[in-house]
Amino acid sequence: MSKNSSFNAEYSYLSLPAMFYSKVIPTPVAKPVMLLLNGELCNELNISIIKPELLVDEIYNGEPGNSKFFSQAYAGHQFGHFTMLGDGRAIIIGEHLTDDGNRFDIQLKGSGRTPYSRAGDGKATLKSMLREYLMSEAVHHLNIPTSRSLAVLKTGETVRRETINQGAVLIRVMKSHVRIGTFEYARHFGTTDDLKALLQYTVKRLFPEIENNENQALNLLRKVMLLQIELVVSWMRVGFIHGVMNTDNVSISGETFDFGPCAFLNSHHPDTVYSSIDAYGRYSFGNQPKIIKWNIARLAEALLPVIHHDSETSLRLAQNLIDEFDEIWNEKYYSTMLNKLGIKNKNRDFYPLVDELLELMTNLNLDYTNTFQGLVHDIDLSDNPALNIWLEKWQNAILSNSNGQATAKKLMSRNNPVYIPRNHLVEKALDEAIVGNMTLFNEFLDVLKTPYSYQENKDSFMMQPDTDFEMRYQTFCGT
Ligand code: AMP
Ligand code: MG
Ligand code: MG
Repeated sequence: MSKNSSFNAEYSYLSLPAMFYSKVIPTPVAKPVMLLLNGELCNELNISIIKPELLVDEIYNGEPGNSKFFSQAYAGHQFGHFTMLGDGRAIIIGEHLTDDGNRFDIQLKGSGRTPYSRAGDGKATLKSMLREYLMSEAVHHLNIPTSRSLAVLKTGETVRRETINQGAVLIRVMKSHVRIGTFEYARHFGTTDDLKALLQYTVKRLFPEIENNENQALNLLRKVMLLQIELVVSWMRVGFIHGVMNTDNVSISGETFDFGPCAFLNSHHPDTVYSSIDAYGRYSFGNQPKIIKWNIARLAEALLPVIHHDSETSLRLAQNLIDEFDEIWNEKYYSTMLNKLGIKNKNRDFYPLVDELLELMTNLNLDYTNTFQGLVHDIDLSDNPALNIWLEKWQNAILSNSNGQATAKKLMSRNNPVYIPRNHLVEKALDEAIVGNMTLFNEFLDVLKTPYSYQENKDSFMMQPDTDFEMRYQTFCGT
């Protein structure tokens, strides 16, 4: 990128063997116009966008800098099946370095075909890019690691899906887009040296603290396992359903990304699925822990040749680590869920309180977010006898817990959001936004910036969808 560009652009990824990327420039579009710019994120990252038009110009006419723009190659397991993939509609236009030396990929999504596009058009619709903007910013403000959204450009072109749509490009920011699928790609299509190069690059960039470690591969695997457990636990905490946890959508950095078919849970049913292509519920809300364990095992497989030169030893070391998953998961999961209940003491005796409440919510068709809010604010939840018995047990647990009501309430408030991006409101905001009325979108975005605090006159954002909407609601990939 040129010297006077908005970013401090570097291209460390291009030091990897050539198999890991292809140089690509954005496909020129009719009339690129900046629709949304995330000023707060620009400030946080020391990105100075003096004029939005200049950024648009850098992207589309960035000579000679754009000779370094690239798309990443990767593979992955999609719904359990291994396949070659790669950025089919994304281009990294540089790695921005913040003033304190943190590195972030700046990526365009929807910027045209790449060598990895297969049958796809490389494009994105305005509705789905605005959706990613809203959802990713919401996840960030829920204090969950995630890719962020820097800007949405309208392309002035149409994109054909089932209907004709307006086209857009999202500018997305992420610590790194290296994913489990990148390691699977190196393992299956590269040499051991290629795999080693990717390992060293990733460790240096994301986990410099293990650079001098004897077994970098095994330590990377451990790091990713812990980060992903923490990530998925926090999704469970707020009722987030990622929707397409294919291994190519699981980041090594532990950030949430790929927001295509994601959605938030309303009433608590572990088998909830919104994604139109997830016919068997592989990526349902309640399956997310199992799936992330499965995905980590795919990363382990990819790393086997660099864990140990003796394949049996390698397998044993990897297996031993994966065998720790369930215990670590349980500890993190129940610890977080007990925070939601205001119980500081993480004694195993309290675990059943969590399971029992969730089961009651399922049986009584209770809203996940609002039920926890009800507990925070002592709202009368139900005259159901089983729930009343549970409430009494819970009260006793808090009392016997020595942290008292006030501390309990504080802990609960930090862990239970008041506002989540409710599906019906997301749809309404997007439908209005694409016909040029950004009022609701902007108001919603603003509410979602402080999701743990009650806000005056915003009760409509706490409402559950009506059952009809909820039954019919579907989300989509690649739109
Ligand atoms: P996803 O389900 O979003 O992870 O996408 C799976 C693969 O399909 C990735 O390789 C994407 O880059 C690719 N892809 C999705 N949508 C498109 C599109 N419209 N054009 C080209 N490639 C796409
Ligand atoms: Mg993806
Ligand atoms: Mg996607």
